[in-house]
Order: sequence, then structure tokens, then C-alpha cells
Amino acid sequence: MKIVVLKFGGTSVGTISRIKKVSKIILSFKKKKYKVIVVTSAMSGMTNNLIKKSLKISKSFDPIEYDVLVSSGEQISCALISGQLKSLGHKSRSFLGWQVPIITDNNHTNAKIDFVNVRNIKKILSKGIIPIVAGFQGITKNGEVSTLGRGASDYTAITLAKYFNAEKCVIFTDVDGVMTTDPRNYKKAKKIKTISYEEMLEMSSLGSKVMQSNSVQEARLNRTDVLVKSSFKESEGTLITKRKKIKNHKIITGISSTKNDAKITLVGVKDKPGVAAAIFKPLSKNNINVDMVVQNISADKKETDVTFTIKNENTIKTVNLIKNNKEFKYDKILIDKNVSKLSIIGVGMITTPGVTYRMFQALSKNKINILVISTSEIKISVLIKQSNLKKGIEALHKEFNLDN
Ligand code: ADP
Ligand code: ASP
Ligand code: MG
Repeated sequence: MKIVVLKFGGTSVGTISRIKKVSKIILSFKKKKYKVIVVTSAMSGMTNNLIKKSLKISKSFDPIEYDVLVSSGEQISCALISGQLKSLGHKSRSFLGWQVPIITDNNHTNAKIDFVNVRNIKKILSKGIIPIVAGFQGITKNGEVSTLGRGASDYTAITLAKYFNAEKCVIFTDVDGVMTTDPRNYKKAKKIKTISYEEMLEMSSLGSKVMQSNSVQEARLNRTDVLVKSSFKESEGTLITKRKKIKNHKIITGISSTKNDAKITLVGVKDKPGVAAAIFKPLSKNNINVDMVVQNISADKKETDVTFTIKNENTIKTVNLIKNNKEFKYDKILIDKNVSKLSIIGVGMITTPGVTYRMFQALSKNKINILVISTSEIKISVLIKQSNLKKGIEALHKEFNLDN
């Protein structure tokens, strides 16, 4: 039995006419003799609206109720798709996360999938019925509705592809595939034909929201082929696959960026062992993810400045934790919310010397000052002023020949 999982994103199911278009795509796979499992997002804008409503009630809206609330968007779209297929005379059935069931941990608003019970959907598939599964949601062992984090319908789809041993998972979205950079930031972005799991994982976690990062990690672990393509027009899309299958790497595969980082600098911290641990311990205990870190060595070896980045939304919490921390002393705290992280990603840099220099040189030629740097085997990230972001993307896109 050839199984395929098809996932449709928010804009792909954004209107009733889009839902009709999506149904045609689903039926075209059925015609090719696939057993089709569909995963859908909420109609575009819906999840954001629901979140706004919760925030009008409280900035710390109860996470259990948040999950019941925001998961409702997917309930609408899965019913509409299934209803459309039925109205065309096909057999279909909608499934909410708990009806599958997709069992998750208790980490409300950002849960991980622990287990998928395949029995119900297998039964449906064997009867030739097309299941339309609500993405982004599951149920905890305590029977509470959970959600999997923003953009996580991708995660639902790729996890189902694993549990059903699907031949592939197709992610339908509003762009032609994974592009060298977000086309909204740079018009000359080009479609990438094939990209390795490792590069896609870096791109997603460094800000390219075309794929949600947990989903890429899941695909990587299970070696699931993922095809990202447009639901709006016929195009080949991008294949996310094993590194071995990819030939002709460019030095740099893609450029990612973020807009929601904040930079915190602690000026005049005592330069002695244990201080960094004292600063970051309460942050980690409160689930605040610290990203880039730099510590300047003081000339007199007595005091130092510690700079780090966090997500913008965690700024107030972080500053409070630092102010209430009695474990270390500092002179003052500086906060900059107008920063962006700009990253270049590519397995090609492992074997090519001088990539860091070329990146810094290209930025400096454009008078872009680098605030913080971090690197890994296949990526280099720099923190820059947000107002320099578009200029920086263009400079790097050109420098690494991605325009052609
Ligand atoms: P969906 O609702 O289909 O899941 P998303 O909005 O989550 O769609 O993701 C698609 C969007 O991701 C695109 O419209 C594009 O602006 C953005 N994006 C960011 N980086 C990239 C990239 N490298 N390639 C393609 N799209 C990107
Ligand atoms: N609807 C959810 C969101 O907007 C999940 C998704 O679109 O993948 O985050
Ligand atoms: Mg998405």
C-alpha cells in the first residue's frame, strides 16, 4: 500500500475556493493510487486571531485553555475539506488530534508528540476513506487538548508520515518551495531544488518559517523524504532529503534571518569563575532560551561585560530574573530590541576555507556593523541592527552567488 501524507498550510486553505482547489490536489493523488492522509492547518490568520483574543483576557492566559482555544482553527478547516470531498461524492472523514489519537507530553502550548495510535486511521484507509487530520494538536495522557507550537502542522504531518511509513510527505504552501532566502525579504531569492535535512534544520531554527524546525528534525531522524511545494501553481518544489543524495553543493545553500531577538548586555560583571553559570541558571530554570553569548575579557581582568540574545517576548521576564538574582553583581543592564540575527547556512562551508572572512567582508563593505557572532559546522550567524537586515541579506546573497 503506497501511502502519502499531504499537508496544507494556512494560505492554502485560506478561503472556500482554496479549499476546493486543495480537494482537487488530494484527488489527484488518489488517482495515482496513493492512500492519502491529509493534514491541515487553520485558515490563514485564524490562529493569530485566537491568540489575540486570549491576550485580551490575560497576558498569562491559562495554557490548558489556550490549547483548547487555538486548536479550534484546525477543527474548522479539516471539516471543510472533508465536507467538500464528500460533496463531490468521495469518502472522507475529519479527525481532531484526540480522535486519532495523537498522544503528547504535558508541555501545553509547545507539546511534543509521544505516540500516535495508528489503528483508527488504518481502518479508515483500508475502507478507501480519506482521513483529514487537524494539524498542530494532540491530547495529553491526562486527556487534555494540547498544541505543538506555532507552525506545527508540519510536525503533525511528518510524524504521521513516520508512523504510517509513508513514501513521502508533501508540504503544500504559498511559495514554490524552500528558497535561498525568504522571498518577502529579497525578491531575487531562488528556489532550492534539493536540500539536506541538516541544512533545512539550521535554516528553520535560524528563522526560515517555511518549515517548522521540530518537523525537520523528525524527518531527519526517520529519513522521510519531504517535498515542499506550492498549492497555488504547478511547480517541482524542493526535496528535503539525505545529504548523500545531493550533488553539486554551492558553498552556501541559504540565508536565514530573525526579527524577534533582543540583545541584553550586563556591564561591569565581576570576572571570576562561576559568574556565567550564576547569570544563566535562573534563565534556564524558567525555560528562557539563551541564544548567542559573548563575554569580553576585561583589560584589568577584574570586570567584564556579558552580552547574550533571547527572544524578544522574554525580555521583561529575563530582566526581572537578572535584577532579582543575588548571586552576582553588575553595574548596569543594556537592552536592545532592534536587532536581527542574519545567518548563512551550507554544508559546502565545511570544505571551503575563507567563508567567514567573505561574509564579514561583504557586510563591512555595506557598512553593516556586527554585534555578536556565533558559528557551527554548517552555519555562521551574526547579530546586526534590524534596520540593516535587508541590505545584509542582499549583500550575502550576491557574495555567495545565490542570485543566479
Ligand atoms: P504555511 O501556512 O503554508 O505553513 P508559512 O507562512 O508557515 O506557510 O511558511 C511559508 C512562508 O515562509 C513563505 O510565505 C515565506 O514568506 C516564508 N519563508 C521564510 N523563509 C523562507 C525560505 N527560505 N523559503 C521559502 N519561504 C520562506
Ligand atoms: N495554525 C497553526 C499556526 O498558525 C499551525 C500551523 O499553521 O502549522 O501556528
Ligand atoms: Mg507553516
